[in-house]
Amino acid sequence: MNLFAAIEDTLRPSPDAELLTTTDGVGYSRGEILARVAQIANALHGLGAQPGDRITVQVHKSVECLCLYLACLQAGLVYHPLNPAYQQGEVDYFLRNAEPFAIVCDPDKLPMVQALSDDCSIAHIFTMDEAGMGTLADAADAMPDSFATVERAGDDLACLLYSSGTTGVPKGIMLTHDNLLSNARTLVEAWGFSAQDRLFHCLPIFHVHGLFVALGCILLTGGSMRWAAGFSPEAAKAHLPECTTMMGVPTYYTRLLADPQFGREHCSNIRLFTSGSAPLLVETFNEFEQRTGHRILERYGMTETGMNTSNPLEGERKPGTVGPPLPGVEVRVVDDAGEPVPAGKVGNLQVRGENVFRGYWRMPEKTREDFREGSWFDTGDQAMLGPDGYVSIVGRSKDMVITGGLNVYPKEVEDVINGFEGVKESAIIGVLHPDFGEAVVAVVVAQSGQAPDPAAIIDYAKAQLANFKVPKHVELVDALPRNTMGKVQKKALREELAKLFV
Ligand code: ATP
Ligand code: MG
Repeated sequence: MNLFAAIEDTLRPSPDAELLTTTDGVGYSRGEILARVAQIANALHGLGAQPGDRITVQVHKSVECLCLYLACLQAGLVYHPLNPAYQQGEVDYFLRNAEPFAIVCDPDKLPMVQALSDDCSIAHIFTMDEAGMGTLADAADAMPDSFATVERAGDDLACLLYSSGTTGVPKGIMLTHDNLLSNARTLVEAWGFSAQDRLFHCLPIFHVHGLFVALGCILLTGGSMRWAAGFSPEAAKAHLPECTTMMGVPTYYTRLLADPQFGREHCSNIRLFTSGSAPLLVETFNEFEQRTGHRILERYGMTETGMNTSNPLEGERKPGTVGPPLPGVEVRVVDDAGEPVPAGKVGNLQVRGENVFRGYWRMPEKTREDFREGSWFDTGDQAMLGPDGYVSIVGRSKDMVITGGLNVYPKEVEDVINGFEGVKESAIIGVLHPDFGEAVVAVVVAQSGQAPDPAAIIDYAKAQLANFKVPKHVELVDALPRNTMGKVQKKALREELAKLFV
């Protein structure tokens, strides 16, 4: 089934109901959005775009862009969004790799895209600015406002999303209509979404979190949204009181907590705050509960799989864990030989279910490497399964530090260092070392107005950790490098400190 057909089934029966209102106060009914989606679908279809063709989209978040995503689904085209932050060299890679039928870009990027497309022979280029205006909008304006949804099989491609590039070059991930529909339905059920919900939508929509998790829960239930072009504490304070739910990355919550005016009164109508895309610190979870009375629900997923595990809606939300597997998702923790490890032991996290993607785009070898016997997909994350069935993510395999032949899991050391008086947060990385292969290094951010002593941090760690896990060096920095999704860029830190010992 085409994912859009399920969305249409939800929205079509009451066209006058509000679907979303922007933070500028412009409202859109379900019927208006469906009509605009059909116009864009007609425009693309009219050019000769065939089911399976990719449409690459690198624009700022707007309602028009939301409609473009839905139009691609409706017309059976493969939606391929890109982070607007990507520059020429990166976009060049994506275009050559995805070979789209058309690209929609911000007018600012037009000269760059034109130059690239000459090289990659892309048939159509459209513009869309922050307000949604541009040549695509012009083309769509002239089109009829109904379009017969193109039939798609469950395992046909719906979207081509690239991973965030945290550990290397972003990988193209082939997501099917079934992947997206099944995961969205699972989340609706698990998180209790209904037509009564109103979501503060402040996430970007080029990434799985804002695009599938957040939109899926609303578009399949008929809930509504307050639509923000981006996150800011000001917009959150202004609009949370009218909303029932917000989804965010951990940095949104730390930014809210950094605002002394933010408090209970802003959250009186909220039933659910969720967090994901990067680890939520226990400190943030606790402070948020103290400030607002809400226990943030942390869940875990990735572009390849959508959501895999979630703390429960009812029942205990345990800080520092990402909860048990969601219904329909199987998870297991195995050693390098593929044997399950006992509860409480760290291993490679593998998942299986309808949510798991079809494979990496044009990377058959990588696909073969990451799918194990019995369709288990190796996530590249290292985790521990508690006796209670809750999963804790301890880091990525690629971030594990191997020092003197011994494995150090960054999170364990980070948790200890974060407990040191005056430390706000930390990142543990491995840095090339002549004796140990890699040495454990702590990159530490102080709480404002504090100046923790590196030598004292090392002594403190020594008192709590086996010696091989203790950082050989503590580097104080003003802030950890993060991408838009709040992910710490350990690759950048490793590059910066590469020469520390050699
Ligand atoms: P790349 O695969 O290109 O290196 P990426 O893995 O960061 O980039 P995404 O698919 O956006 O790209 O992110 C998925 C990853 O995010 C997961 O594999 C996991 O490491 C991390 N993640 C997501 N949610 C959580 C969470 N709640 N706690 C800890 N880590 C999380
Ligand atoms: Mg990844």
